[in-house]
Order: sequence, then C-alpha cells, then structure tokens
Amino acid sequence: MIAQQVHFCPCCRTPLSQEQRFGRLRPISPACGWVFFPDPQVAAAAVLTNQAGEVLLVPRANEPHRGCWRLPE
Ligand SMILES: [Zn+2]
Repeated sequence: MIAQQVHFCPCCRTPLSQEQRFGRLRPISPACGWVFFPDPQVAAAAVLTNQAGEVLLVPRANEPHRGCWRLPE
C-alpha cells in the first residue's frame, strides 16, 4: 500500500486522518488507533519450539505494541 492510496482503516473501515506518530505525520485510524507505515521492511523469521511443541516468544521492546509477544530476532 502507498500512503496516498490509503483512505480507510483496514481494521474498522473508518476514514483515516493524518497525525504525528513515531516521529512523522502518518495516516491513522481515529477509531481504533491503527497506524499506516508506508515502507515496511523485508524480514525473515524462524519458529523455535521445545520438545513439548511450545513456541518461543519474546516481548516487544519498542512501540508500537511494546510488551506484546513476538518471534525472537
Ligand atoms: Zn480502525
């Protein structure tokens, strides 16, 4: 998605507004707080499990979603 093409929140379909977030003006949903990031980075991940089949997750250190669970890098 390109920022100029994003007009509605993909989560709640509310029209987006421009607000200062994470150091720059970004399209955000005033209803649910979803933030559009125009330049996602390519990434790879591996899922680590123990012998019981439990998945290793770690808490995010940074915003957005600080403290939410994610895969380790
Ligand atoms: Zn929304």
